[in-house]
Amino acid sequence: MANIAIVGAGLMGRLAALFLHRQGEQITLFDKDQKKGELSAARAAAGLLTPLGESLHCEPNIVAMGFDSLALWPKILASLDGYHFFQQQGSLLVSHAQDSGDFQRFVKHLKHNYAQHPCHFLNREQINELEPELGRSFNRALYLPEEGQIGNRKLLLALQQQLESEQVNWHSNQHVKQINGNRLFVNGDWRRFDLIIDCRGTGAIKTAGNTVGAISDLRAVRGELFQLFAPDVHIQRPIRLMHPRYQLYIAPKDKGHYVVGATEIESDDAGPMTVRSSLELLSAAYSIHPGFAEAQIRQHVVGTRPAFSDNQPRMQVSNELIQINGLFRHGFLIAPVLLEQLLTAVAHIKQAKPLEQLAELVAYPELMRWQPPGSTTNLNQRHNTYANS
Ligand SMILES: Cc1cc2nc3c(=O)[nH]c(=O)nc-3n(C[C@H](O)[C@H](O)[C@H](O)COP(=O)(O)OP(=O)(O)OC[C@H]3O[C@@H](n4cnc5c(N)ncnc54)[C@H](O)[C@@H]3O)c2cc1C
Repeated sequence: MANIAIVGAGLMGRLAALFLHRQGEQITLFDKDQKKGELSAARAAAGLLTPLGESLHCEPNIVAMGFDSLALWPKILASLDGYHFFQQQGSLLVSHAQDSGDFQRFVKHLKHNYAQHPCHFLNREQINELEPELGRSFNRALYLPEEGQIGNRKLLLALQQQLESEQVNWHSNQHVKQINGNRLFVNGDWRRFDLIIDCRGTGAIKTAGNTVGAISDLRAVRGELFQLFAPDVHIQRPIRLMHPRYQLYIAPKDKGHYVVGATEIESDDAGPMTVRSSLELLSAAYSIHPGFAEAQIRQHVVGTRPAFSDNQPRMQVSNELIQINGLFRHGFLIAPVLLEQLLTAVAHIKQAKPLEQLAELVAYPELMRWQPPGSTTNLNQRHNTYANS
């Protein structure tokens, strides 16, 4: 049994704590927030699991991880006692006449790059069969039957309850000020562990006051969304609207609740939503379904997504510290794959095997870095170098 600290109880931290605990490790989980996770990007999110919908703006490995993770989520969720929400009934992509060029471009992109995944072109009648209230606004749509969504807040709560019932040691309201190798500074003391797993999200960004153990090249990308209650609107599956500025979507949640999101702004400002964003998001929702005019605004939500300059996630591995970060706008989409790679890395470290061997053991070695923090060489490059020499 290894004595492992996990810093950050957002999406990755909670998953890592639970599954490493189940592998028999002794876990101590720290978060500067309360257990509800209000400071996490995970709580702000929409929970879309739409790899093809994202594919125009991300690398193919994210899409592949998204599909792998869609297959892994049901198993993870089945191991939680608490209530959760997961749906895989496909998504619809729609566009208004003025954005039809973008729509055509997207259709071509899917045909050229992801022909192995089903994608159905629907006319108004077919839209009405699938989503009876959308046919009046759109006369064509793309149906992507493999896509889904997860209840992000319900998942955070179910993970909290599971961690509590399995008696994992969780210190909430404890700000870890520094991480240095396998030592961390919290509550005025340095504490040493066999291994630290850093899942701080944007909390790991290097600033004047956060230097030791902070991650360079990490940035925050602001996202805003609305939580609406619209009992007169009946939409079953995520709807993505082609839009020149943002990737806009409506995600139906339980009992008349909808998420309308999300902006993507290069800023670490976590202040309240702007008028401009609210106008754009709400008019997009209204243009998809006029019933949103009568919706109640239950919450406007702002969060910051942690991202590296290439918008790829990264797992920096040493024998004392693993840093998982840069999940950007794809945390829920890819978390199960990252969790698998983390469990493999921890088992490997415990067996004191050379870290570079990890390249052979994980499905996405390009995410792994095994040199000390600050290095840019990744396992995949290293592996290819060996293969070519
Ligand atoms: C508006 C919005 C919409 C999104 N929609 C989607 C979506 O539809 N689908 C999708 O897949 N992804 C989506 N995302 C992205 C997703 O939420 C993130 O990728 C994911 O939450 C990142 O997980 P994480 O565990 O790395 O960080 P987080 O979930 O942010 O967790 C980090 C945790 O670390 C804690 N912490 C930070 N610093 C410290 C410290 N020094 N000491 C102790 N604790 C600390 C924080 O309190 C927090 O709990 C969205 C994000 C936003 C903002």
